[in-house]
Amino acid sequence: MNILYKSTRDKNGQTVTASQAILQGLSPDGGLYVPDAIPKFKLPLSSLKQLSYQELAYHILQPFFSDFSEQELKKCLANAYDSTFTTPQIAPLTYHAGNAYLELFHGPTIAFKDVALQLLPQLMTTAARKNKLQEEIVILTATSGDTGKAAMAGFADVPNTKIIVFYPKDGVSPIQERQMLTQQGDNTFVVGIKGNFDDAQTKVKQIFSDSDLNTALKQAGYRFSSANSINIGRLFPQIVYYFYAYGQLLAAGKIKEGETVNFSVPTGNFGNILAGYFAKKMGLPINKLLCASNRNNVLTDFFNEGIYNKNRPFYVTSSPSMDILVSSNLERLLFYISGEDPVKTASLMAKLTSTGKYQIDSMMRSQLTDFYAASATEKQTEQEIKRLFTTDQTTIDPHTAVASYVAQKYHHEERIDQRQTIIVSTASPYKFPHFVLSALQLKYDSQKPFGVINALHSNTKIPLPQAIEELMHLPLKHHCEVAPAEMKNAVKEILNLF
Ligand SMILES: *Cc1c(COP(=O)(O)O)cnc(C)c1O
Repeated sequence: MNILYKSTRDKNGQTVTASQAILQGLSPDGGLYVPDAIPKFKLPLSSLKQLSYQELAYHILQPFFSDFSEQELKKCLANAYDSTFTTPQIAPLTYHAGNAYLELFHGPTIAFKDVALQLLPQLMTTAARKNKLQEEIVILTATSGDTGKAAMAGFADVPNTKIIVFYPKDGVSPIQERQMLTQQGDNTFVVGIKGNFDDAQTKVKQIFSDSDLNTALKQAGYRFSSANSINIGRLFPQIVYYFYAYGQLLAAGKIKEGETVNFSVPTGNFGNILAGYFAKKMGLPINKLLCASNRNNVLTDFFNEGIYNKNRPFYVTSSPSMDILVSSNLERLLFYISGEDPVKTASLMAKLTSTGKYQIDSMMRSQLTDFYAASATEKQTEQEIKRLFTTDQTTIDPHTAVASYVAQKYHHEERIDQRQTIIVSTASPYKFPHFVLSALQLKYDSQKPFGVINALHSNTKIPLPQAIEELMHLPLKHHCEVAPAEMKNAVKEILNLF
């Protein structure tokens, strides 16, 4: 089987190779790339107990990245999943208060985006070589916090690439800002914006399609690319840990081979949970995928009412990486539940653009049985952090707490479901220490620069992650700040395009 990629919106079903899809990110018609077939996982489930993370990743990703040679893909995986992760397991499973927690925060930026963004630069530079790309790749990203740092950590000092990250000066947490401003690597550039995330995002989109700039760029030997979560090079690497979690449950004797399990996933852009949906389609015994949202519960309403409506207030919450009203990757789910109908998918997305909402028909709704959806308020998130600390002496971050709360709620409603539910744990509590401490009603010295970190450490005894230690010692390296209107000039200056 040689998998090719087509757009969710293209009725002619034109295809590109995996490496071309990785280089392009988005299809030219605005749709997202989907594989023309979904491969089955060929090994027996019992093999999951023995395979290392890298070996398993090879077996899962090889059919998807079909134009990569065995040697190329194995090299990408070895470079991505090395000692920059602080545990050789990469995605270890731990058990707290009757549930399993899949810890995806042992990478260099202590959030789950590392799992995909450590691999993407490897895939992209390999894809560039395969397609004989002449230009150097310039990754341009607007970030609300986690993505920018994780992308820089992945691309830092990767030959033939540069990365420029824009972030809203007053829209990220102090820890997140410091993480970005201390970023090492000669090819990384960070620019603070005097504006909000939307300003930065809108400008980045304009820069991408600025024809003068693109001409100058080409002459100078560069081309833009994006590290956005719609890229198949970010989506598919996330399938691996669903299988890996299942293997760990088998190895621990918590389940028998073939037994179905649930996953609860803290969801924003719908990338992580969509990877779980692919895992199920590949044959992993999954019962329900629990789509967990915070107060921005546009997805909860979509699953429960069949209506997607982004015309609603936007709330800033304690789980900022899920503060999203348009979940880009949902388009791929629409494509599958419509029976792979590009015309229907394109028309729903057109409605979203023109009116901010759409409704799916009963045929499509009937295809949503793989999912359960619910949301947590700020108070419920806080109480869940407190509950785990009190009953199990464990400390979780607010994103994980949302998923943990939703798993509780699900089992409360569905008492007959005795299955094991795995909570996908997407960030270290050290990334959001202020909220965690306040949920635990613990005080900290706000006068000391790292008072909040020290307080979390002394109260929870969780070892300081290397990423946090670094933060406390590394000098601030990036100092650039501009108004949104100056972003284009900032790019030209960084790339010497005058
Ligand atoms: C990005 C992010 C999420 C949301 O994941 P999606 O794939 O966008 O749904 C959840 N938690 C954390 C910590 C994140 O950084």
